[in-house]
Amino acid sequence: MECIWCGGRVKKGRGEHLWSQKLHSEIVQHLPDEADIRSYQALERGPRPSLEKLKVRQGHPYKIAINRVCPNCNNGWMNQLDERVRPTVIELIHGRRVTLPNDEARALASWITMKMMVRDQYDPDTAILSTAELRDFYITREPPSNIWIWAGFCESPLTANMCHRVPATARSQSGESIKFGAATTWGLGRLIIFADFFPVAMPPPPEKTVKLWPLVEQDVVLNVPIMDPVEVDRLARRYNPGGPSAVLHEFTFAPDLKSRRPGTTVKGSR
Ligand SMILES: [Zn+2]
Repeated sequence: MECIWCGGRVKKGRGEHLWSQKLHSEIVQHLPDEADIRSYQALERGPRPSLEKLKVRQGHPYKIAINRVCPNCNNGWMNQLDERVRPTVIELIHGRRVTLPNDEARALASWITMKMMVRDQYDPDTAILSTAELRDFYITREPPSNIWIWAGFCESPLTANMCHRVPATARSQSGESIKFGAATTWGLGRLIIFADFFPVAMPPPPEKTVKLWPLVEQDVVLNVPIMDPVEVDRLARRYNPGGPSAVLHEFTFAPDLKSRRPGTTVKGSR
């Protein structure tokens, strides 16, 4: 297989972590504990997974490994970009309010774009981005103008470990379903990122977020009201409201958050 960036050879194997291992120890501090999981197990559908299994389950979004880039890219410019933004990302993972000078915000947007593009290529069947768009970014490191990125915060452990991607589809005149974009939502600790790829028009900005891209020529102040997990879930599914819960779909049980507001009691499972 060819590297999505440079066309170089991709090594066989499990691939590279989407989020560098240096971030794992930060993210893990915000993951749901047994109490969080138990409170949601009441809503579980299907076979009940053991807590042990949930904890060690491979494919935790923050541990996602993707085998689409060559060692040169991975250990070279991708690693440099990871290192460049790591101090900022760690602040954000822990929910600390920061002001990003323009060049810092630009680097963060570039980093998110890199992650979004790698995630897009995870499954070639559902990938949206073209080789030309990937090569453009590889050369310029500048997010394309048809990517929109917002950041916000959620303090619930239930969003601390999510990676949700919804393809945006439209109907052609002949009634055919056409994929034309994708909306990706990430929860990394307390940080929530929305990254939309839309070739046509700017999507409506999610509430309680700060726009990171397209960048304005000033500092970016990440000081926004905290979202609750229900809001994050709604926003993550804004192009597919009937789809599975975004917040919890990575767990092996998937309660329906639509019927639950914080502070209400959840009645038992079906
Ligand atoms: Zn490469």
